[in-house]
Amino acid sequence: MFMSMQYVEPTKRDLNSKFKFSCYKGIGCFTKCCTRTDILLTPYDVLKLKTHLGIPSDEFLAKYTRVYVDEKSGQPYAVLKMTEEEGKCPFVTDDGCSVYESRPLNCRYYPVGQGLMVAASEKGPVKKEFYFFVKDPNCLGYKEDREWTIGEWRTDQGTLEYDEMNREWNDIQLRRRGSSDPPLDENKQQLVFMASYDVDKFRSFIFDSRFLELFEVEDQEVERMRNDDVAVMQFGFKYLKFILMIEETLKMRSPAALAK
Ligand code: SF4
Ligand code: SF4
Repeated sequence: MFMSMQYVEPTKRDLNSKFKFSCYKGIGCFTKCCTRTDILLTPYDVLKLKTHLGIPSDEFLAKYTRVYVDEKSGQPYAVLKMTEEEGKCPFVTDDGCSVYESRPLNCRYYPVGQGLMVAASEKGPVKKEFYFFVKDPNCLGYKEDREWTIGEWRTDQGTLEYDEMNREWNDIQLRRRGSSDPPLDENKQQLVFMASYDVDKFRSFIFDSRFLELFEVEDQEVERMRNDDVAVMQFGFKYLKFILMIEETLKMRSPAALAK
């Protein structure tokens, strides 16, 4: 997340929370929010954007993102890189967002933010989603009359598909935040970044190395990954859980099988 974090309202909201908002071409602040902002990308954002632009994931990441590493966990994140001259998002034009149909999740949610926490319950710890408002004083959208609930806003902005696709990745972030493990070293950071964001490189890591000799992966899953980026991304989440020692999601082949 961390888009305009300084304007975050410190109140947790839910799907029924109401707000007034409208954003349209012609409003006085049009596209102002697409300048000098930090937009953290999710794995599915990168997959959608690189597909939209018709370029490989490594080219997308090199051209349009910078890496932010969380100090405590050492977790690396891809963040949209603003242009050097004007500090603008590389996709903003006078007419608005040039990648609108594939815009990142944080751009879709804005002016709502989304968070995850672990809460205590009778049945033990449960994961809870919550929301909050980001009230940037430069954003005039709040002065408009159209009323929404956060639930309606999510549907209108097409966030449901993204939330579903990122669910496992979000779980991994939550587990990492709650852990007392030492920060990731550089080698792990690179693997984590690749498995999270660089779907084409990760596919080649699986198919062009000894990976499939070392790990047991079902034939069907292997076949799906040959041409389906989403399947590679989802396998990446399994791999992340394995290397971050969150869950035994992968099984190594037995020494006898390896010797064959
Ligand atoms: S209303 Fe807010 S979200 Fe819309 S263009 Fe203006 S600043 Fe951006
Ligand atoms: S991706 Fe689109 S909506 Fe998001 S900051 Fe860039 S131009 Fe604005």
